[in-house]
Amino acid sequence: MSLDKIDIVRYSRQLPLLGAGGQIRLLGSRVAVVGLGGLGSLISLYLAALGVGKLILIDPDKVGLENLNRQILYSTSDIGRPKARAAAERIAALNPLVEVESYEERVTEENAEEVLEGADIIMDGLDEWRSRLVLDQYAWEKGKTLVHGAAERYYGQVTVVERGRSNCLACIAPKPPAERGCSGVVAPTVGIVASIEVMEALKVMTGIGEPAYNKLIVVDARRPAIDEIALKHMSCEECRSRIR
Ligand SMILES: [Zn+2]
Repeated sequence: MSLDKIDIVRYSRQLPLLGAGGQIRLLGSRVAVVGLGGLGSLISLYLAALGVGKLILIDPDKVGLENLNRQILYSTSDIGRPKARAAAERIAALNPLVEVESYEERVTEENAEEVLEGADIIMDGLDEWRSRLVLDQYAWEKGKTLVHGAAERYYGQVTVVERGRSNCLACIAPKPPAERGCSGVVAPTVGIVASIEVMEALKVMTGIGEPAYNKLIVVDARRPAIDEIALKHMSCEECRSRIR
């Protein structure tokens, strides 16, 4: 595989950093974005802009007016349309070189294989833990990389999970936080967390830098601060038995 003339122009500002080899690795990468809300909006736009070869866009919901304060994939004219469909169109308009597959579904244990099989990396754009742990279980079993991210109020967190390199997500969150109603969120917090998630995926895809395995990146946008918490790497036998 080599870069053609259009690739060389489109990606010219990142090629000095990634090299042709790094760009070719991006073009050959397949990434699923699960949840196309605030996090998933920026994640999918940035992955498409970077030139990831294939994006799998997954969300069961329709666009609502209350989404538009942060979900920058969508326009006011998209209200009422399935997010997965509107997202696929927006991504195709941004970068027609990206292959897009979309699912208007929630990821469950039953359909995880069907919708996620084609992805090497799974991006967490969710806002609830039950589905997150489905992604965690599936990624762990298949040896795929899961980039976890969560954002609420002015806070957020990111980590990268991969069997053999880190703990699973169930280790990190033995008791998933109770789901409560929305306590509010502003676009920049979501943007910071989504950007960190994409940076982590970029490092995994290109081999550049150090992905946040066994590290929890914690954001407090009001201070402003990004901190890193070291996570002890365990065998995961205990958490796996707890899940089963
Ligand atoms: Zn574990």
